Amino acid sequence: MFEEERERLVGDLMKWGYLTKPELIAAFKKVPREGFLQEKSQDLAYSDQPLYIGNGQTISAPSMIAIMMQTLDLKRGQSVLEIGAGSGYNAALLAEAVGESGKVVTMERISELAAFARANLRKTGYGRVKVVVGDGTLGYDEGAPWDRILVTACAPNLSLPLLAQLAPGGKLGAPVGEHYMFQTWKVATKIKGEEIKVADHGGCSFVPLIGAYGWKE
Ligand code: SAH
Repeated sequence: MFEEERERLVGDLMKWGYLTKPELIAAFKKVPREGFLQEKSQDLAYSDQPLYIGNGQTISAPSMIAIMMQTLDLKRGQSVLEIGAGSGYNAALLAEAVGESGKVVTMERISELAAFARANLRKTGYGRVKVVVGDGTLGYDEGAPWDRILVTACAPNLSLPLLAQLAPGGKLGAPVGEHYMFQTWKVATKIKGEEIKVADHGGCSFVPLIGAYGWKE
């Protein structure tokens, strides 16, 4: 039942122009979104909408995740840091995109959600993704430099220590703006040294990034 629905949603995301890259289409066809949801929302797994995952947090709509991943230009073998593990779904898609030769670490400040993400990733076959509990606004020095950093909660600005942890040519994608409203999906590319180029990719709506360089709780 879910397989058919997954195919249909991926077909729609392609038709609507959200998904164009073959490796991302393959990833969305493979990762079972239902395996990352609370039981009561599993029927909505392939509806293109954000869904509640507990602790006041949500998993983004598939079309939004497609925008994030398309604009990050992910490649096999890259090392990727995600800030905001939530359900673990986006991290599983990242693991598909970078392949077995790549590396994915995802950070989560709420330990219950980190446990939820870890369990979901394990049961769906993505146990290789490392889930770290902590304030992701500080980044994760142990695995730095990162080829890609994906922030899935809204930051007040882009001046995060995360930029320092990017490899040369690396990209950081983040929603930047106010609480839930007036947010823009931005991608910062590290040209060389400390030189950064920022591109805007349209409006979005995310839960707040809370931490030392984020919003206050
Ligand atoms: N990517 C997730 C959805 C993330 S929702 C998925 O695929 O399901 C955003 C998440 O960011 C929430 O779980 C929230 O608790 C977390 N978060 C907010 N501020 C954070 C911070 N400073 N460090 C790590 N995680 C944070």
